[in-house]
Amino acid sequence: MAAMIRDILGVTMLVTVTLVQASPSDGDCLDVAVIGGGIGGAYTGWRMRDRGLSISVFEYSDRVGGRLFTAELPVAVGTYLDFGGMRFCPTDHTTLNRTATEIGLNIIPFEPGYGIADETLWFTRGKRLRNVDLDTGKVPYNLDEDERKSPSILVRNLLKNSVNLSSSSYDSVDELYSVTTTDGTPLYKMTLDNFYGRYASREVYKYVMETSGWAEAVGTHGALQVFKVYRPHIENTGQSKEFKTIEGGMGEVPKTLMENFLKASARHKLHLNHQLLRMERRQTGGYNLGFRKTQTVDGVTTPVMTSTEDVVMCARKVVLATQKDSIRQIDFPEFKNNPEIRRNLDSVEGFPAGRIYLAYNTKWWKTGNPDITHTKSDLPNRQTYDWSTGTNNVSIIMASYHDGDFTHYWRELSQFGTPIPGSLPGVNAVTDVVKQRVEKYLSVIYNVSQSDIPEAVGGAMMLWDRYPYSAAWSYFKAGFDERKVRDMIYKPSPSDNVYIVSNSWSPDDLQGWSEGSLRAVDFVIQKYFSGQA
Ligand SMILES: Cc1cc2nc3c(=O)[nH]c(=O)nc-3n(C[C@H](O)[C@H](O)[C@H](O)COP(=O)(O)OP(=O)(O)OC[C@H]3O[C@@H](n4cnc5c(N)ncnc54)[C@H](O)[C@@H]3O)c2cc1C
Repeated sequence: MAAMIRDILGVTMLVTVTLVQASPSDGDCLDVAVIGGGIGGAYTGWRMRDRGLSISVFEYSDRVGGRLFTAELPVAVGTYLDFGGMRFCPTDHTTLNRTATEIGLNIIPFEPGYGIADETLWFTRGKRLRNVDLDTGKVPYNLDEDERKSPSILVRNLLKNSVNLSSSSYDSVDELYSVTTTDGTPLYKMTLDNFYGRYASREVYKYVMETSGWAEAVGTHGALQVFKVYRPHIENTGQSKEFKTIEGGMGEVPKTLMENFLKASARHKLHLNHQLLRMERRQTGGYNLGFRKTQTVDGVTTPVMTSTEDVVMCARKVVLATQKDSIRQIDFPEFKNNPEIRRNLDSVEGFPAGRIYLAYNTKWWKTGNPDITHTKSDLPNRQTYDWSTGTNNVSIIMASYHDGDFTHYWRELSQFGTPIPGSLPGVNAVTDVVKQRVEKYLSVIYNVSQSDIPEAVGGAMMLWDRYPYSAAWSYFKAGFDERKVRDMIYKPSPSDNVYIVSNSWSPDDLQGWSEGSLRAVDFVIQKYFSGQA
């Protein structure tokens, strides 16, 4: 019978029939279903914990935290490795700072900051450079005399000369969207690559790309990003703002929020290993939600394929606390059949990223580089950080922090070899092939012969390039006016109580920071849930 319905009506109709048949009665509906157990979902539950509502959070994997994910190596218990978010700037990320304090977490300094310029080593085109070399233009690039400056100054000058704003800063988003280039083209309509193509030499483009440490310093996303990337706190000016982290790792924030949310009422629930696949309106109001059960082994989550494991729940309101790509995969006719919603959901481009940590019994990378805490290179491991000394005299280096296509490079390598001794398992495993390759790069960056690098005693890695994290962060694509997109994105369908609280569409540079998710939650709660208890 099922097959016949599929043949006649198509798969979507079959799904609809199944959801309606299995739908719970009105009395069993949740007040609010929150989809996603990252910091956005945990904060949503926590903010509404005392409103007398029944709220359930549904999470695809077996852990709370999403892209805030902290782990420890067996050889270095007490040294916290953050695979995703690892730092925040209290003066910019005020919601996170306030919330972490309110839930009793210990905010501690993040010593390496955003990379301290005087403690940074650049390795590019085979040369080892210091801050002073970039500042004075002693760089292996064929630049004109007036281009021989640090990349951030160079880009500022480029902006001053090519757009109708006298500096690289802006006071409001409206001001940003009024920026045009000297030939009258609105900057937001251009891609970053097109902007560089028009106003900079190919060599300047490569200089910026290769020394920034970030693949997304150039690319086919919107050119307005150039303003956001070169905001003062992330420039290598040597006066960068203070960065903090959380004792025990950033993963403590969503975990503690979730614990406090669950403690606040017996009506609040967390359902791990539940993937929202589809939603449909109920005739009596609210939504039927079709979940597929998943299973997680060593951090790898896969669907449980038997349909008998599927679960249908209903909720009066639904909060989607997930990123762009997973939202687009949810089968909800009101989103799917509306071209404007589809277009706005697709207004941002996601960037994958990844981190590789290695542990040793000595800080061998300090030999010859005693003052270096951070490196940036044009090699596929892109950035490294000296990651504090843990217990048992074990020292850890963040041997790679890369983004963009470099993530695919490491993904490919991670399929080869076997986990090194002391590696975390499964999704976080570092194989001997990955270790050897990353050590090859570390060897030239730190100027230590590869044969002198001692045996690693542990390792861990995480690549953020696959569902449900197809991106580490996002940027607006060229041609989209983010002000209009944001007007719609929080509540895409005016006639539906379905909300999006994600930083994929956040203003300023918050598309890359947890703060963006928290502010999206605050906005939605204030605007759409304020009358509720
Ligand atoms: C490498 C890296 C470095 C970063 N650095 C920083 C930093 O230093 N500081 C900072 O503040 N931020 C940083 N970020 C960004 C920050 O981690 C994220 O912006 C933030 O964690 C996003 O939280 P979220 O809850 O909105 O989304 P997520 O953390 O992505 O959570 C979404 C959750 O939804 C679940 N989910 C998805 N689809 C479904 C579905 N259909 N059904 C059920 N569940 C679903 C996912 O499993 C996930 O747990 C970094 C991110 C990465 C990856």
